[in-house]
Amino acid sequence: MIVFCEECGERYVIEADEIRGSAMIFICRVCNDIIRIPAHDKHHKSDEKEKNKAEKKR
Ligand SMILES: [Zn+2]
Repeated sequence: MIVFCEECGERYVIEADEIRGSAMIFICRVCNDIIRIPAHDKHHKSDEKEKNKAEKKR
């Protein structure tokens, strides 16, 4: 996954393992801006929600 700093455009390559499904924040080494990486597996989360729903129904 490639992330760009919104301030200076510096490019960072983030390994998916480093994110592990949760949002991540780090500071740009060039301009010290805060870069936010949203959780990338939203699908998985909603899947779990659906699962819970289904189990409740039963
Ligand atoms: Zn920057």
